[in-house]
Amino acid sequence: MLNKIQLHWQILIALVLSIFFGILFPEQVRHVEWMGDIFLRTLRMIIIPLIFSSIVVGVTGIGSSENLGRMSLKTISYYLMTSFFAIATGLILVNLIKPGVGADLGLSQMVEGLDVSRDSFGQTLIKIIPTNIIDVMARGDLPAIIFFAIFFGFFTTKVSKEHREPIVNFFTGTFEIMMKITMFVIKFTPLGIFAIVASLIAAHSDNLLMIFGRLGIYMLTVIAALSIHAFITLPLLVRFLGRSNPVKHARGMSVPLLTAFSTSSSSATLPLTMEAVEFKSGVSNKTTSFVLPLGATINMDGTALYQCIAVLFIAQAYGVELTIVQQLMVMITALLASIGAAGIPMAGLVIMTIILSAVGLPLEGIGLILAVDRILDMFRTAVNVWSDSCGAVIIAKSEGEELNV
Ligand code: ASP
Repeated sequence: MLNKIQLHWQILIALVLSIFFGILFPEQVRHVEWMGDIFLRTLRMIIIPLIFSSIVVGVTGIGSSENLGRMSLKTISYYLMTSFFAIATGLILVNLIKPGVGADLGLSQMVEGLDVSRDSFGQTLIKIIPTNIIDVMARGDLPAIIFFAIFFGFFTTKVSKEHREPIVNFFTGTFEIMMKITMFVIKFTPLGIFAIVASLIAAHSDNLLMIFGRLGIYMLTVIAALSIHAFITLPLLVRFLGRSNPVKHARGMSVPLLTAFSTSSSSATLPLTMEAVEFKSGVSNKTTSFVLPLGATINMDGTALYQCIAVLFIAQAYGVELTIVQQLMVMITALLASIGAAGIPMAGLVIMTIILSAVGLPLEGIGLILAVDRILDMFRTAVNVWSDSCGAVIIAKSEGEELNV
């Protein structure tokens, strides 16, 4: 217990120090960058075996097709509901504050080299079915891996005991080993975070003040909407839908939340999220191993909210009035785009091109917000992870589990 509190403070101290270090010694930052690389690479190393084994264990643990159907329905309903609340919050705030009106179009940056998502939503859906499981694992295509793992787990329950047992034992063992590696890696979180954030600050230090000056209102709008969602909406859901204590749950989640904030990657944070939700908040392994990997890939409240504000900001800056129907279109495409976005840094920005095209706004509009995207990514990723963890608590409670929160 004491150890964990110390880790939480260690991370906070590392964060503060990294900001000073990045601003004061931008040249020296390259000497510590390797620590961040090692930390992130180790987390990424764990993800594929962790996700695959956890889903197989989760699905075999859920058992019958009826239980699996119920669990999937609850999980997906929760994810859709919270993303909808997030988008609505973003939409209301951006319409009230209007940060884009009078924004300086001269600040626009070139967006060359930014990958534009070319797949339609239908194609993206079809691609969830892998044609080659080794290929999707090599590419780290998480939705396809999850799809296969659910099938694999489900049909494991359909074979005879003689064949089922070694498979379940093997994947339970793999899962336990991945969690042990995670617990080992957690100890190095402060060092990893220090290096990652210091590099980020050093890279942006020259124009930090200018950026805040020009895009400050836009940033504040995004941060205010994310805060409403994270500090009001989600805790209320945990309190009333999950009949649990959101403050206690948040305390247990401090390490993954700070890691999500610092790495801007909900996928890389997944091992830490699973550890905290299971061992701190007391959600069963069966629930965490199904709900959280799914959440890290498809549930991105922060990203959906952000995309909504960003698109309306661009419309306001270009002086384009979006009708109610167009705003509805933004809501729906933002929801779909957030489901399609990968849990990696700046994925939300890339996939935003889909929304801009849907409402006929110029793709160069992204250049307007490029300068602050990486910083806002930190906030939205933390909200993405927070929402996944609240979902695990609410679903566990609805399944009659006894939790620690
Ligand atoms: N970085 C976010 C995540 O990993 C995705 C995004 O760019 O919004 O959750």
